[in-house]
Amino acid sequence: RTVLRELTEIMITNPDISPSEALPDTDPSVFHKRYLKKMRDLGEGNFGMVTLYQYDPANDGTGELVAGKVLKQENGLIPEGWMKEIEILRSLYHSNIVKYKGCCTELGGQGVQLIMEYLPLGSLRDYLSKRKLVVPQCLMFAQQICQGMEYLQTKRYIHRDLAARNVLVENDNLVKIGDFGLTKYIPEGDNYYRVREDGVSPVYWYAIECLKESKFSFSSDIWSFGVTLYEILTRCETRQSPPVKFNDMMEKGGTGQMTVIELIKLLDRQLRLPCPKDCPHEVRMLMEQCWAAEPTQRPSFGSLIEKFEAIRQ
Ligand code: ADP
Ligand code: MG
Repeated sequence: RTVLRELTEIMITNPDISPSEALPDTDPSVFHKRYLKKMRDLGEGNFGMVTLYQYDPANDGTGELVAGKVLKQENGLIPEGWMKEIEILRSLYHSNIVKYKGCCTELGGQGVQLIMEYLPLGSLRDYLSKRKLVVPQCLMFAQQICQGMEYLQTKRYIHRDLAARNVLVENDNLVKIGDFGLTKYIPEGDNYYRVREDGVSPVYWYAIECLKESKFSFSSDIWSFGVTLYEILTRCETRQSPPVKFNDMMEKGGTGQMTVIELIKLLDRQLRLPCPKDCPHEVRMLMEQCWAAEPTQRPSFGSLIEKFEAIRQ
């Protein structure tokens, strides 16, 4: 943290050595803390806290609304992963991925704040539980998520945390993938990433090989997409949620390490999440294909896009 603060100070006092071409004051990706007016909290996950701000350098209430994400401090250290998350989002540009706007580095002890576009309707999870979405709209959102994911894969990234809570809603016709906190780069020639660190893992969204061998791949993102599709079709109803449903299937509603072992057993017995109430048969088939035990048998995002396109006709 001190290193980062020193670096920021050095960059501010020596603009000629700072990585951006423009002077800090004219660089649109530099957000000054004094102009960030807090409006309200937008949400938090396991790692971050997101706040709505008006960025108002003119100080007349005309500034734009932006979302700022900071990491929840654990022990005063900025994990290296946080700077990676910012770098990854900065490198992505697609209509179904939340847009990076810049950073605010003047937070003192709080590290660096990521500034992104504000999506007024919040997470898909919150949106779905408030509105009565018809099936065609569910499928349109599902297809848009696939489009964002297909783009992410062309950049050789695996998301590793695809879930309704990490999809954001711009309006009734547009969703974007947000939260790249667990995203990893897969070097050319490799086809999976083995994860060592183990904090709070979204195990009910994980493919079987992730649970068994910590092997994350483009195909394991497809599995998580299947779970996300399930969430969309159950409209994120709490009683139908993946954790609740999987725990119902287990003999004893275990916690902690036990759950993962039980979950593996259950998936090995070919048990899967149930078919959502008004889910069309073809869509159920897609979900099941996403949950094929053998990763190579799962569809690609490209083929899913075509399937959704066809079903929606
Ligand atoms: P974490 O890494 O802790 O999971 P997220 O990036 O998923 O944090 O953000 C947590 C929550 O904040 C989201 O589920 C969503 O409700 C809200 N949120 C995040 N980014 C935005 C945004 N750009 N616009 C509106 N709401 C957002
Ligand atoms: Mg999240």
